[in-house]
Amino acid sequence: MRCSQVLSEKQRDELLAGIKDVIGRKYGEPKRRKVRPPLDQLIQSVLWRYTGVKSGIRSFRKLNRSFVDWNEMRISTISEIASAISTASWTYDCAEHLRQILESLFQLRNVVNMDFLDDFTQSEATTFLRSLQGVTRDLADEVLLFNYGHNRLPLTEHGARMCFRMGLIAKETPALKNQRALLNLWDKEYYIGFTFFLHDHAEAVCRRKKPRHSKCPVDKLCPKTGLDE
Ligand code: SF4
Repeated sequence: MRCSQVLSEKQRDELLAGIKDVIGRKYGEPKRRKVRPPLDQLIQSVLWRYTGVKSGIRSFRKLNRSFVDWNEMRISTISEIASAISTASWTYDCAEHLRQILESLFQLRNVVNMDFLDDFTQSEATTFLRSLQGVTRDLADEVLLFNYGHNRLPLTEHGARMCFRMGLIAKETPALKNQRALLNLWDKEYYIGFTFFLHDHAEAVCRRKKPRHSKCPVDKLCPKTGLDE
C-alpha cells in the first residue's frame, strides 16, 4: 500500500496528543530543566545528535569530569576526547566535531566560553553561532531555544524526514518554511520536548532506509507519508 495521505485535522490532533504523551512520559516537565552556560549547551547539543538524549547527558557529564575546563578539551587529542566519552564507534567523529567547534571559538574570540552571547541580540547570536565551524543552523537554533527561550525549533535532516513522514510538514527538508510550520503546531512549552523527541527517534527509529515502525511510539498514529508498506 502506498501511504501518502494528508492528515485530517482530527488525525493530526491525535498524532500531536500522542507525541505530547511520549514527551511527558520520557522527558518530564520542561519548565524544571536546568539552563546551562551557552557553550555547555552547544557541547551537549552536539552529543545529543550522536547518541540521543539520555546517553548524551551521560556523555556530557563524563567530559565535564574528565577535563578541567573546555580549553583543556580544546588542546587535547581527538583520541583523548573520544575515550573520555566512551568506547562506542561514534565517539571519534563526535570528538573531532567538538574540538573543531572549540578551536573555531578560540580563533574568533580568544576565549573558550560563550557567555558574551548573553549581551547579544537574537540576530547577533545567530550570526556568531553560525560563524563557528561545525555549527549548523539546527545547532545554533538549539542554543537559542534552550538558553534564551527564543522561538526556534531545531530541525535536522533526520528530524525533517520524520516530520514529513508523520504528515506534519509538506517536504522532507529542514528548510525555514518547514520549521515555521512546526513552530505553529505547538505551544511554546513543547518546543524543547519535541526537540528531544526528534533527537531520540528521527535517526535511530525513523531511519532513511528500513524505518523501524514497530519500535516507534507513534506507529499507530503516523500516516507514513511517502513510504511503501
Ligand atoms: S511510524 Fe514509521 S514512518 Fe512514522 S514516524 Fe515512526 S518510524 Fe517514522
